[in-house]
Amino acid sequence: MKTPWEGYIKPFRMFGGLYFVGTRPASSHIIDTGDGLIMLDSGYPQTLYLVTEGIREMGFSPKDIKYIVHSHGHYDHLGATKALVELTGAKTFIGEQDVPYANGSVNLTWANELGYDYVEAFEPDVALKDGDTIELGNVCIKAIHTPGHTPGSMSYFFDLEENGRVVRAGTFGGVGVNTLRKRFLDKYNLPYSAREDFINSIKKIRDEKVDLNIGNHAHCNDTEGKYARMGKEADNPFIDPTEFARFADATLEMYNEIIIRRGE
Ligand SMILES: [Zn+2]
Repeated sequence: MKTPWEGYIKPFRMFGGLYFVGTRPASSHIIDTGDGLIMLDSGYPQTLYLVTEGIREMGFSPKDIKYIVHSHGHYDHLGATKALVELTGAKTFIGEQDVPYANGSVNLTWANELGYDYVEAFEPDVALKDGDTIELGNVCIKAIHTPGHTPGSMSYFFDLEENGRVVRAGTFGGVGVNTLRKRFLDKYNLPYSAREDFINSIKKIRDEKVDLNIGNHAHCNDTEGKYARMGKEADNPFIDPTEFARFADATLEMYNEIIIRRGE
């Protein structure tokens, strides 16, 4: 992989108060709640300057971040959190089972696999459980526990409003099957039950009502392709009420191909 900072993507407002603020290697979004910002995933520490620049370009200050909410405890999604907390004092949220990933009590953040030695550990303020809600300003996020990719992967769902139109945004917390391969499970002595968890999690959230699929990587929802079409189509290309279920199906198909058919 190229170095993360080569993965610049121009920040933009996606819909309502939701903004994409970087980057190609891992997505960070901010939500303007009217009472400060919620950040969804902080990204790599190596791309933090791109993300904070992106926030400024969108007319905010990084210091407006009140909450940092994590999809799961991997380096590419929480690596910059410690530094951001130092800067902003933001409150941090992560799935309960991924707390040990964040605070450094286990070495499972995938940092080594990505070519880095360590992650700056932090003690999360809130350990999320299935069904918890996160509220700030005019935003209320529902957190659904979707283990598999990591034991504490969380999926998030919330409403966004633009000119009186309300759409429901959603993001699946942990998509990759990289942590379900034999060689990874065996290397870290992890239970193979993570595979069943992964399948059950996909089934659990597949039929959630989602009008706007947020990717925790840009390729998950074709962030760049849709952005290129913005303003050229009748409707906002990010709004597609059928995409989330199709994405869930494609994720299950990826699992079946790599883990079952190829036997990895
Ligand atoms: Zn991950």
